[in-house]
Amino acid sequence: MYALTYVKAKSLGEAAKLLAAHPEAKLLAGGMTLLPTLKQRLAKPTHLVDIGHLAELRKIAAKGGRLVVGAGARHHDVATSAVVRKAIPALAALAAEIGDPQIRNQGTIGGSVANNDPAADYPAAVLGLGATVVTSRREIAADQYFQGLFATALEEGEIIQSIAFPVPKRAAYAKFHHPASGYAMAGVFIAQTAGGVRVAVTGAGPGVFRWQEAEAALAKRLKPAALEGVKLDSSAFNSDIHADAEYRANLVRVMASRALAKLR
Ligand SMILES: Cc1cc2nc3c(=O)[nH]c(=O)nc-3n(C[C@H](O)[C@H](O)[C@H](O)COP(=O)(O)OP(=O)(O)OC[C@H]3O[C@@H](n4cnc5c(N)ncnc54)[C@H](O)[C@@H]3O)c2cc1C
Repeated sequence: MYALTYVKAKSLGEAAKLLAAHPEAKLLAGGMTLLPTLKQRLAKPTHLVDIGHLAELRKIAAKGGRLVVGAGARHHDVATSAVVRKAIPALAALAAEIGDPQIRNQGTIGGSVANNDPAADYPAAVLGLGATVVTSRREIAADQYFQGLFATALEEGEIIQSIAFPVPKRAAYAKFHHPASGYAMAGVFIAQTAGGVRVAVTGAGPGVFRWQEAEAALAKRLKPAALEGVKLDSSAFNSDIHADAEYRANLVRVMASRALAKLR
């Protein structure tokens, strides 16, 4: 490691001020992504502003047809919350499948959505449910928030405070785990919402995306058979030592069918 200044923020307001005062500072939430990045010298912040302990960021509440999850909620909190299980059981089930117990006890939903790893699970739920990312400055619709490989609409110094999920009629997530990390080789989140069917895919391409041809087909018939022959453009899919693009495209179709089979 190299020298840097660690600050345990006393509030969200103090964290925002520290970020404004130190342009090379970084927020620290669960540290599950950031600390390995620092160890590999892929980031060299001057300050780490720790928000992982702030109670104001860990609230989970359902009200008026929305489930609001604080950015500091650990994956374990979301997986075991009675409020989440009642409002959006698919979201609790997704959180329960992230990584391993150590990751689930440290990692936060805000850290995952800020990082926007192309194989992360939460981005599929945020996009699939048409959620809103609530930050220290504004509210950003999921369709505008995710902008490709590790890229988001977040500006310098902007802090995610919570994610507001509209409660769907039914939803489900299915993923094919990478056997070592647990990340999605392909994961598909399907939601039947008041505005129609949404299908979000993670793990397959350079970032989470909506499979719009599947949404149109499923709007007519919400059954796996409706996906037969539906176009899936895999030209930009990832090809690596774990799977080539063609294999990932097949996984997307299989995961979509599995998600449909467990919609509730
Ligand atoms: C071995 C391993 C297995 C994993 N498996 C999976 C998996 O199966 N599925 C999956 O989805 N993920 C997986 N992860 C990632 C894990 O879920 C991380 O917890 C998550 O990506 C980052 O969350 P964090 O709270 O640890 O964030 P940190 O590492 O603390 O921060 C990550 C980034 O987000 C920024 N940030 C943090 N909080 C905020 C905020 N509130 N507002 C703005 N920016 C913020 C930080 O500055 C940093 O740039 C795995 C990680 C590891 C190490």
